[in-house]
Amino acid sequence: MRILVTGGAGFLGSHLCERLLSERDEIICLDNFFTGLKENVRSLLGHYNFEVFRHDIIAPIDLEVERIYNLACPASPVHYQFDPVRTIQANVLGVTHMLELAKRTRARILQASTSEVYGDPKIHPQTEAYWGNVNPVGVRSCYDEGKRVAETLMFDYHRQHGVQIKVARIFNTYGPRMALNDGRVVSNFIIQALTNQDMTVYGDGSQTRSFCYVDDLVEGLVRLCESEDLTGPVNLGNPAEFTILELAETIIRMTGSRSSIVHNPLPADDPLQRNPDISLARSKLGWEPQVPLEQGLSKTISYFEKRLSARRTLA
Ligand code: NAD
Ligand code: UDP
Repeated sequence: MRILVTGGAGFLGSHLCERLLSERDEIICLDNFFTGLKENVRSLLGHYNFEVFRHDIIAPIDLEVERIYNLACPASPVHYQFDPVRTIQANVLGVTHMLELAKRTRARILQASTSEVYGDPKIHPQTEAYWGNVNPVGVRSCYDEGKRVAETLMFDYHRQHGVQIKVARIFNTYGPRMALNDGRVVSNFIIQALTNQDMTVYGDGSQTRSFCYVDDLVEGLVRLCESEDLTGPVNLGNPAEFTILELAETIIRMTGSRSSIVHNPLPADDPLQRNPDISLARSKLGWEPQVPLEQGLSKTISYFEKRLSARRTLA
């Protein structure tokens, strides 16, 4: 199969490309390299079934493909708030272009949606039936509302034009190849711990998140895309829930760091609690995460140790 992966040079996209290539598919990786890196796909570049090119999905594109995994969108709050207008354009114009491509080629399209569509949730854990509690005019709205519109577009193209769609609501996922400047909590804490800098817990650290290791997430995306009777939306994430303070303490212990925990102000609209109900993915896809937090953190810590030591060698 010829598969288009947009955002394929990013954190999740590069792991997905690797996984799909191992199944002998032909992969077209498309990226504007805003947060993605050529380095993330360097090991795939010589592969005869792998192509990569620079393109921004805000502009239309024509290709012949059978599957589209649409991951192109900055995912960390620091990056998606850098140019909020472009973020929402990626989710409205960009998703429309991908859906037009799916419509013309009759490709099946999977949209990387997010737990952010639930906003600061009033029910816990979050099931797919929950409509969310989202601020439409806040600093996170370019992303949260953008991803909500993207879901609407997916379902409208499905109902109106018969496009085969799959919508994955991805909860916090971490692992090797998160960018050094990503700004999300797992990479921030690991880098701070490895460099013995203060560990920046925002607020009192009692807010919770559920962290999924990247290999588990990629398995869920592929199972969803290849399932025959499920359009979604489907929650994909690890239901084990931790406070941010617990995460900080775990990373300090695992790295033997001399970092101290400091408390910075909580960003606007920061959700207090987040935990996926994954019953649907369990029953329809036979999927659930296999990698416990400390095992995934250990692999991620090793990755950042190598990245930081390569950076020191260059300096
Ligand atoms: P990432 O920033 O590492 O990857 C995004 C990739 O998309 C980058 O390579 C970036 O350069 C590219 N990109 C951004 N805008 C683009 C555009 N307009 N045209 C072409 N390429 C563009 O982030 P990630 O964590 O790998 O996230 C991938 C997708 O998964 C995103 O859509 C994100 O919203 C979604 N997601 C991720 C998480 C998570 O925890 N990692 C959670 C929920 C949803
Ligand atoms: N956070 C933190 N310190 C950091 C980065 C993030 O305490 O250096 C907190 C953030 O306020 C949020 C949680 O960690 O409550 C997860 O943040 P992240 O940016 O990773 O993802 P989000 O789930 O908010 O999109």
